[in-house]
Amino acid sequence: MSASHENNHPLSLSGEISKDTGVVINKCYQCGKCSAGCPVAAEMDYPPSLVMRMLQTDDSNHYDKLLKSMSIWLCVSCEMCLTRCPMEIDIPTLMDYMRQKSLGAKKTNPQAKKIISFHKSFLDSINITGRLYEMGLIVDYKMRTGAMMQDVLIAPKMFVKGKLNPVPEFIKGRKKIAAIFNNIQKDKKEGQQ
Ligand code: SF4
Ligand code: SF4
Repeated sequence: MSASHENNHPLSLSGEISKDTGVVINKCYQCGKCSAGCPVAAEMDYPPSLVMRMLQTDDSNHYDKLLKSMSIWLCVSCEMCLTRCPMEIDIPTLMDYMRQKSLGAKKTNPQAKKIISFHKSFLDSINITGRLYEMGLIVDYKMRTGAMMQDVLIAPKMFVKGKLNPVPEFIKGRKKIAAIFNNIQKDKKEGQQ
């Protein structure tokens, strides 16, 4: 994978990712503090410091492995790695970028199916109401996964405690949020051409 720079010099893979995300991959010097602090590193196929190393190699096989990995879906964007990194490398942004690339390239790990359904339901909720609408998220997620009856007995208790609102609340600036989503979709389509 490569892209043209303004001077018509082809960008390396890591250069292209840096251009898209603003994260300078080559600043990582493999100290390992991100992996040591990541709460889900033990469950990942590639812990965060290894993700960084694989991206630094500019090897398309490594990039492909990351697109198909569970690591990008197990990341919970807690920012612990960013807090600990001496170079302030924004790994959560990279993980998010890789998730979108993985979806776009249809290379998602089959084991991440439920996480991806949740991810899509979450984003749809933000797109429509401008904020998280828990009830809509739950219904959408259950329709996507077919797990309609799972945890169904918990819902009445949550209603009683006021944790679930049956009516969505729309924020004032939701048109601006929708415009951001539209722009992302537009960029995606242009990127595929
Ligand atoms: S903490 Fe930062 S510099 Fe250290 S390995 Fe992780 S990303 Fe690289
Ligand atoms: S943001 Fe993701 S990669 Fe970083 S520490 Fe949290 S879960 Fe791990």
